[in-house]
Amino acid sequence: MNTEVAQQDQTETTGELRCELSVAKNLFFGEIVEENLFPYPQMRERDREMLGMMTDAIDRFLSEKSEELVEMDRVGEQPEEFIQALREMGLFGLIIGESHGGLELSNAAYARVLAQTSSHDSSVSLTIGAHSSIGMKGILLFGTDEQKARYLPSLASGETIAAFCLTESGAGSDAAAVRCKATRQDDGSWLLNGEKIWITNGGIAGLYTVFARTDGPEGKLSAFIVEAGWEGVSHGPHEDKMGIRASSTTAVAFSDVRVPAENVLGEVGKGFKVAMAILNNGRTGLGGGAVGGMKALIKLATAQAKERKQFDTPIAEFGLVRPSTVSPPRARCGWSPTTSIQAARTTRWRPQSARSSPPMRSSVPPTRRCRSPLETAS
Ligand SMILES: Cc1cc2nc3c(=O)[nH]c(=O)nc-3n(C[C@H](O)[C@H](O)[C@H](O)COP(=O)(O)OP(=O)(O)OC[C@H]3O[C@@H](n4cnc5c(N)ncnc54)[C@H](O)[C@@H]3O)c2cc1C
Repeated sequence: MNTEVAQQDQTETTGELRCELSVAKNLFFGEIVEENLFPYPQMRERDREMLGMMTDAIDRFLSEKSEELVEMDRVGEQPEEFIQALREMGLFGLIIGESHGGLELSNAAYARVLAQTSSHDSSVSLTIGAHSSIGMKGILLFGTDEQKARYLPSLASGETIAAFCLTESGAGSDAAAVRCKATRQDDGSWLLNGEKIWITNGGIAGLYTVFARTDGPEGKLSAFIVEAGWEGVSHGPHEDKMGIRASSTTAVAFSDVRVPAENVLGEVGKGFKVAMAILNNGRTGLGGGAVGGMKALIKLATAQAKERKQFDTPIAEFGLVRPSTVSPPRARCGWSPTTSIQAARTTRWRPQSARSSPPMRSSVPPTRRCRSPLETAS
């Protein structure tokens, strides 16, 4: 960190550090002294205001759709009019710059939006999250000015939805084992051949970020921007998953697809670096979504534990149920679902956002007593 930034952070957090409090000691008393743990960054006022409006709008819209969301999960599809409503709420342009028609939210604010959508339905988070976090993130990180001008406006409006194509049948955790191949043609373009699997938004995307080998089987990976409408691009049927069923997951195939030279993303031969940079950035959104989902589940579980009676007693009073819902001061070892969520929130909202500029601030109050879910659910 350079001196100027360090001084700026110091100024912004002056008066907020609570030096008299021990973080570790307070954890055992159910207090998380957030300001001491993560004194920076601070969320921009603009982001905070926009976030407030967005989360309210998301809650209103998705609450009204709660029954339809269950049906979408059952049939495994989000209807076009539903996706259109997500477009109109600006949910496809969350992290794209204002100059290209997006909302230009910070990483922290973006993760918070995904937490809100996940508290209603995780498939919604996947549709908008796979688009932003991984599908088109490469253009933001590595795109040329020309690529940004050409693609970002329609990605921001959601007219074009993006997907990230790395995984193959033989390349999962070992992402570098990609066999999909791109062969350079005399005119400088590339001929792309291969098949990707498990691609989120595969069936609804208009643009794919595709990773392929560029110089023989032992060669290096390169990244390409591929339009779904090009000849030779096709996708397989919807994968019938156990959860997040409404999110589109398909195979995507490339058969002699001609990719123009100007659609190489980043440097030829540096595709693995591009892929890892995208995935590292994408974790912010995924973490935000997980926090939102956990919060919603704990709310449901604690409501049930309070209401459900056996032996004339709410089941929340019984030994095996109580530790999962009891507040930290009463729980042995200081663990509870709420402390886990708080830890996850803190790590999602803050450190990732530290990489963004300008500085941001968490909307979580400085010191929060971790209340028992039994209290929060009431
Ligand atoms: C719903 C869904 C959506 C997806 N969306 C996308 C997408 O949009 N784009 C995309 O490119 N991919 C996507 N994927 C693919 C995903 O990235 C892969 O599933 C993931 O990389 C793991 O690969 P795999 O499934 O082949 O598991 P494998 O690599 O076969 O791993 C199987 C198990 O072995 C373990 N394992 C593997 N290697 C090691 C090791 N060295 N040490 C210890 N344990 C190990 C793993 O942790 C795992 O438990 C999606 C997958 C799912 C399920």
